[in-house]
Amino acid sequence: CGIIGILGNEPAAPRLIEALRRLEYRGYDSAGIAALSATGALERVRAPGKLKNLEAELETTPLQGTQGIGHTRWATHGSPTVGNAHPHVSGKVAVVHNGIIENFRDLRQMLEGKGHKFETQTDTETIAHLIAANMQEGMSEVEAVKAGLSKLEGAFALAFLFEDKPDLMIGARKGSPLAIGVGDGEMYLGSDALAVAPFTNRVIYLEEGDWCVLHRESYEIFDAKGHPVERPVTIVQGAG
Ligand code: GLU
Repeated sequence: CGIIGILGNEPAAPRLIEALRRLEYRGYDSAGIAALSATGALERVRAPGKLKNLEAELETTPLQGTQGIGHTRWATHGSPTVGNAHPHVSGKVAVVHNGIIENFRDLRQMLEGKGHKFETQTDTETIAHLIAANMQEGMSEVEAVKAGLSKLEGAFALAFLFEDKPDLMIGARKGSPLAIGVGDGEMYLGSDALAVAPFTNRVIYLEEGDWCVLHRESYEIFDAKGHPVERPVTIVQGAG
């Protein structure tokens, strides 16, 4: 339901929570964040219910790292349990997702056939396994996402974080909004400009079918066919 991603230069967890709080108005039943540890490992904390439950979890299990992704979930497939809360992880990939993957049952069957073990009832977990499978076949993170997106049917906004890649985040949108926030030596993703407003007033709204590759100092945007495209930077009043 709500997405935030941060490639930053200060601890990500409190900033992810701040952004998720600004997305609360959309409604949600659970929430979670993932970040990379100092050694590049993916770590995540999730909780059912309100953000204060997630914050309580973070007190006992603090997340280090200056890059991370966060999500408030409004369950469509799988009950609102901690296990079904996003981010979902497979191999070196963590993903948060807004929307519905219509063909997830077929994809799940195909991936289970390849030996992937599913832990949740969500449509979203399929995306994590799909990208991880592509990487296990030797694709780079960017190639794996590009190939994976072409197999997804339905509506999605996505943010991906990768183990051992502290300066990489990938986003995608189809049928569900997603925007890039451009900071000074930092980059953000938000399902809504409000989410990135505490950090920057420069926002790029992705267009239908767009996906993007973010680093702290640069970004690239591609259309659904994989061609590089330019999208305008909008200055959001009252933000930053
Ligand atoms: N379909 C996904 C799920 O049930 C995402 C729901 C959402 O947009 O929050 O986990």
